[in-house]
Amino acid sequence: MSFKLESSDIPDTPAYIPFNRPFIVGKELFYISQAVLGGHLAGDGQFSRKCQEWMEQRFGAGKVLLTTSCTSAMDMCAILADVKPGDEVIMPSYTFVSTANAFVLRGARIRFVDIRPDTLNIDENLIEGAVNERTRVIMPMHYAGVGCEMDRILEVARRHNLLVIEDAAQGVNATYKDRYLGTIGDLGAYSFHETKNFISGEGGAIIINDKRFIERAEVIREKGTDRSRFFRGEIDKYTWIDIGSSYLPSEIVAAFLFAQLEEADAITRKRWTIYDFYHERFTPLQDRGLVRLPSPPPECRHNAHMYYLILPDAESRSGLIRHLKAKNIHAVFHYIPLHTSPMGRQMGYTEGNLPITEDLSARLLRLPCYYELTREDQERVVREVYSFLDTTC
Ligand SMILES: *Cc1c(COP(=O)(O)O)cnc(C)c1O
Repeated sequence: MSFKLESSDIPDTPAYIPFNRPFIVGKELFYISQAVLGGHLAGDGQFSRKCQEWMEQRFGAGKVLLTTSCTSAMDMCAILADVKPGDEVIMPSYTFVSTANAFVLRGARIRFVDIRPDTLNIDENLIEGAVNERTRVIMPMHYAGVGCEMDRILEVARRHNLLVIEDAAQGVNATYKDRYLGTIGDLGAYSFHETKNFISGEGGAIIINDKRFIERAEVIREKGTDRSRFFRGEIDKYTWIDIGSSYLPSEIVAAFLFAQLEEADAITRKRWTIYDFYHERFTPLQDRGLVRLPSPPPECRHNAHMYYLILPDAESRSGLIRHLKAKNIHAVFHYIPLHTSPMGRQMGYTEGNLPITEDLSARLLRLPCYYELTREDQERVVREVYSFLDTTC
């Protein structure tokens, strides 16, 4: 599965190092052929069940249901939370659009809160100040697979009777105080998009930790019908009983994913090796004050989802992206804060509302980090980062 250009393909250009590259690790194609030969390709066949049970056991989740994406899992969460027009949801602005869209689609108002400078996760100490009588949900997002300060978030939620829904898209197989991300709040969502740690192209899962949501989740995911109960033989016909949509993936997707989950520990170990190599090599640059490196708190075991550098300013960030691009290395910035986006402005937010989010999002650079990244290519990335910073900073 290599789409890499060899240097001989383009004279005088070093081989392209992409930001991400989808991969297979073992039995993906074999399991897909098994699914095809098994004669069940729609959702909720044996591979969907295997994936769900694997995650329930491994992560200690109440109930896991595969979805077509993390976006659809969060859409389901917003329906389950019974968020109504005018209700409010608290979340960071430094997150993916889907975190907010799920609730905006229900007519909710989003209260964006600033992030912590060390983890870029929502600042748990600012949440309570954003709570009012319309608040229904706190939505932490675990950036780079590093857990938010969940104890504090749960304590605030309990005091104000709010639901906690975790956007754990990046946090699969990572822990906070030995609890797996996604399983700590009332509901959680995972992503298996090809840019995440465990992939199925597009894909996701909803994690249902509060058992009272399980039955309704099954209905919402099956177009608002009780078809799941019908297939289990619990009722003799199925019908329309609630709102819903088609949120379940096909068995082709589940078969691919199961092969990845079986190798989850090997994948994570490999990613840690990549992360640790960058970290060790860049530490001298941090000591010289030229960059800031990720610093996960000790209670968080991250999953090496991402390796990023925080540059001194926006100009050096753009300069480094350009320098790497000229050397055929694809490094990228990350979220444009949602509150400064056109949608955020329509909601009444303006530049200056969330200073830490605005500052760090302008200076953060993500480096190539994927399962098949070679040591040799990593050496090249490191060398080019040094070459840029040594000459310009
Ligand atoms: C990737 C990502 C999503 C979206 O996941 P999809 O599976 O592509 O819908 C949502 N939130 C965060 C934080 C993400 O990183």
